[in-house]
Amino acid sequence: MNTQLVTGLHHVTALADDAQKNVDFYAGMLGLRMVKKTINFDAPDVYHLYYGNETGSPGTIMTFFPFPGMVKGRHGKGQMTVTSFSVPDTSLDYWLKRLKKFNIKHTEPQKRFEDEVFVYFEDAHGLGLELVFNKGDKRPGFSYGQIPIEHAVKGFYGVVLSEEGYERTAGLLLEGMDHKLLIEKGNRFRYSASGEPGDFVDILWTPESTRGLGGGGTIHHLAFATPDDNTQLEAREKLLSKGYHVTPVMDRQYFHSIYFREPGGILFEIATNPPGFAIDEAPAALGESLKLPPWYEKSRDKIEKGLQPIKVQTDKFMD
Ligand code: ZN
Repeated sequence: MNTQLVTGLHHVTALADDAQKNVDFYAGMLGLRMVKKTINFDAPDVYHLYYGNETGSPGTIMTFFPFPGMVKGRHGKGQMTVTSFSVPDTSLDYWLKRLKKFNIKHTEPQKRFEDEVFVYFEDAHGLGLELVFNKGDKRPGFSYGQIPIEHAVKGFYGVVLSEEGYERTAGLLLEGMDHKLLIEKGNRFRYSASGEPGDFVDILWTPESTRGLGGGGTIHHLAFATPDDNTQLEAREKLLSKGYHVTPVMDRQYFHSIYFREPGGILFEIATNPPGFAIDEAPAALGESLKLPPWYEKSRDKIEKGLQPIKVQTDKFMD
């Protein structure tokens, strides 16, 4: 049997500076749920904030390391440059009004691949984002009150990788990561493991552009989903056999992860779908208290004192 080892997107992790601005943008303006408030396991003085749908399903999870005062990075090739969120095609007017109300500068609606309408904008720290208005996404919306459910974000639509050359990254997606080429036009090549909105990976071939630089407002890594620990180990073996330098499995509490660099230089992760965010918090209370992995609990007091207090303020982001 030929099991699919990589099934789609899992999460996107980015760098930000001020944590409260980050919460206001993603949990307030965009209307995602904060599904986990924890720390960077490799740097416990920094938050790791997770946003997603009600449960934080793979394919809806946007995560941030907010480093106060972090210098801005630069968008460019060798970077994941855009994260696209999926909204219904009937929500264009709603979102244009909402972006205006909260003073978010954005492009005019534009068309791509015949029927895909999108607007591009950036978060408070310059991270590249899109809303893609489409009717192909069958996932239900979710809402925490400030956005009517019929207009709410459903999760990712896809991501954009800006690359100096596209062939080697395409080869990795096709031969190493169970993706298929869906469509190509001009310098944009769209791949997907599931073929569905939520899992689109666009390679944008931009040899002329400047190289990207990490920093505030840039993506740290892109995580793909694998069904479980066994498929993860198989995926790891497969990538090792193709010459990729893949890390051992790391316990990220809410999923297990392996990491490697794709040929264009972007950090890729493959994360397991289980156990998910309800492992240390009741589903109704996700994101409410600071969660630490067991090995940091003994330092809880010190860790809490070092973190800036933050609050989800949906009431400030009503229409
Ligand atoms: Zn990750």
